[in-house]
Amino acid sequence: MEIIDSHCHLDFPVLQSQLQDVLRRADEAGVRQFIVPGVNRANWDGVIRLGQQYGNIYPALGIHPCFLDANSEGDLAVLADYLAKHEAEVVAVGEIGLDLYESDKDRERQLDILNRQLRLAADFDKPVILHVRKAHDLMLQQLRRVGLARGGVVHAFSGSEQQAREYIRLGFKLGVGGSITYERAKKLRRTFSYLPLRALVLETDSPDMPLCGYQGETNYPERAALVAEVLAELRGMAPAEVAEVTMQNTREVFQIRT
Ligand SMILES: [Zn+2]
Repeated sequence: MEIIDSHCHLDFPVLQSQLQDVLRRADEAGVRQFIVPGVNRANWDGVIRLGQQYGNIYPALGIHPCFLDANSEGDLAVLADYLAKHEAEVVAVGEIGLDLYESDKDRERQLDILNRQLRLAADFDKPVILHVRKAHDLMLQQLRRVGLARGGVVHAFSGSEQQAREYIRLGFKLGVGGSITYERAKKLRRTFSYLPLRALVLETDSPDMPLCGYQGETNYPERAALVAEVLAELRGMAPAEVAEVTMQNTREVFQIRT
């Protein structure tokens, strides 16, 4: 079984500080490749460096809606420079998005920064990695307006089946992570058991989003293998088939060869 973790933050200190171990354990579990998204200017160099050091780590660059700061508007110009300079190595613009979970107060600013990054993705012909909480309909509105030829991934998707189908129609894949390991996530588990496997990619979002049984602990990319197993069980399929198809899907979105 070979798996790509389509979303993990290997540059975050808790993982970076034990990276050799993290990568070894992932390899033992069959998790062989990693997409590492940027969250704001402060981590772009680190993400790029990981991509240069390891042939199986693929960086993305973006400004995450929860990591906005006083410089974010100015950083958009820097992002464009980075994308130009590292065009061959960077596989996506992300993670970018809308997070209205806590409150609505940053809404207009989040929308502005998102839309400017969606346009950058279109200009550089890259897919996007989307972080969306409590804002799927608003996000879908933006995507319909911008129209991205390369689509992207809605990471840790937790919306409705109807919203999922609309993302798929627009050329997006949906990220399946640890949430489906919780029995109480009945609706989400049902949604992921129906949707076409060709539209799904596996992820952990490590070090965040621990799986059921590991609450309160650091999450690791090796657990993408457990996500594959649970997804396979929900769909009545073999884990190896889930791994293979989601691997293909991920490689297709991010244009990863090998
Ligand atoms: Zn993330």
